Amino acid sequence: MFTAARFVRQVTSRLSAPGINIRCMSAVPQPQTNPDVHCNKLFINNEWVDAASGKTFATVNPSTEEVITEVAEADKADVDLAVKAANEAFRLGSPWRTMDASERGNLLNRLADLIERDRAYLASLETLDNGKPYQVAFAADLALTIQHYRYYAGWADKIHGQTIPADGNNFAYTRQEPVGVCGQIIPWNFPLLMQAWKLGPALAAGCCVVMKVAEQTPLTALYIADLIKEAGFPPGVVNVLSGFGPTAGGAVASHPDIVKVAFTGSTEVGRIIQETASSNCKKVTLELGGKSPNIILADADMSTAVETAHQALFFNHGQCCTAGSRTFVEEGIYDEFVERSAERAKNKVVGDPFNAKSEQGPQVDKDQFDKILGLIGSGKTEGATLVTGGSRAHDRGYFIQPTVFSNVTDEMTIAREEIFGPVMQILKFKNLNDIIERANNTEYGLAAGVMTKDIEKALYIANSLRAGTVWVNTYNQFQSQLPFGGFKESGTGREKGSAGLEPYLETKTVIINMIEKNS
Ligand code: ADP
Repeated sequence: MFTAARFVRQVTSRLSAPGINIRCMSAVPQPQTNPDVHCNKLFINNEWVDAASGKTFATVNPSTEEVITEVAEADKADVDLAVKAANEAFRLGSPWRTMDASERGNLLNRLADLIERDRAYLASLETLDNGKPYQVAFAADLALTIQHYRYYAGWADKIHGQTIPADGNNFAYTRQEPVGVCGQIIPWNFPLLMQAWKLGPALAAGCCVVMKVAEQTPLTALYIADLIKEAGFPPGVVNVLSGFGPTAGGAVASHPDIVKVAFTGSTEVGRIIQETASSNCKKVTLELGGKSPNIILADADMSTAVETAHQALFFNHGQCCTAGSRTFVEEGIYDEFVERSAERAKNKVVGDPFNAKSEQGPQVDKDQFDKILGLIGSGKTEGATLVTGGSRAHDRGYFIQPTVFSNVTDEMTIAREEIFGPVMQILKFKNLNDIIERANNTEYGLAAGVMTKDIEKALYIANSLRAGTVWVNTYNQFQSQLPFGGFKESGTGREKGSAGLEPYLETKTVIINMIEKNS
């Protein structure tokens, strides 16, 4: 018998088993396969405007390779206007600066309410522009996005300083003040969620924002701008620009009136941003690439380990900075693990992301598609064993077969470079000491996974890995209250949780000399 609850359980278990822990808040409604697109200009000072140059660029449906619509192409002149609006909104005495902190929280909650109201539309738009399955967009991206705005809504009136016993006849206290106008640059793999990760803490802290969204997937972030206006945020508090990296993104990173920049994307661009941002000593947070190890010990439950490792790599078509893309498997179970992982990948349904049966849609664009196929080619020529997949899927759209390589060794390109695609590398290891060193032998340090029933080994490995997040017997959990960020070249600073607020705050110390009682 079909029941909504059962349907929710089915979708939830398909998405969550056993790593990605996403709870559906309601049954998934039908998608809008041809959602109306009406937010395609620049959002500056709560108004929709054309680019100063009049230029536009096409955003493409990765399932069909057809143009969805043209969107405005921001450049330096537009960034200047947006920064001016943001600085005006941040002016002392402005509606935003005089607003009660609790009211900032109310606005964030209202935004979350509006996203919930339009959840099916937003999930449909995300699927159209990004290619991720609608079921996933609805149950995962939208659920986490809503949760995230609500989490930071709760923080708005709980950001406070301390009183400190200063020496002498002094009364001293600290205030946590908003850092000011922030530039935020986001990627295309989770457009709504990455926007929420950036806007949530910035707005809770009382900052104003100029956001540059990814050129591959501008549509949902622009629609959120409309909801920001509807929620009642004052003009200039949030400005959202579509445009390209070196032009619009570069103008954000180098702008002298932006005091902080937050970036999520490749390590290569992260380096450029850090350098550019140093021109006026901007505070910088970077969430960059990864090549995360996922370590499967011989005592792990085989079915759970295979499914968790599969989701760790293939979730979002491999387009996760945390993807468990070096699957290290202990010698004794290696052959069986490879066979069962290949079987799981082979059975994955790849196709139209609006079809409820599809587990994997297309890669986001042709550049990514070509890059991934190139890296698969390197795996073949460098001697890894291609167990399944290895080619494009379908004649049209950027679909790639779920691919599994075994007999991968540490020096191969596919074991070193971030692939950002549905390509799993399975490596063999002998013992614990051998694996720690190998797992840490990378310039990255974003995330890692361990699968074992032995808690002592799990803790030893978790404590020894140089990574910002370690998942034990699970993977890819992204709850808002848990800090996230990278060691080494995977980034600097943390997002989410209370740690995610810190980059948006300045500590001010006030020292008051008290009048002597007898004077
Ligand atoms: P990916 O390779 O996954 O597309 P990128 O790091 O290139 O990731 O892009 C992430 C975000 O950074 C996008 O919004 C992109 O437009 C922006 N970006 C790319 N190059 C630059 C740059 N030189 N300066 C500022 N932003 C950039």
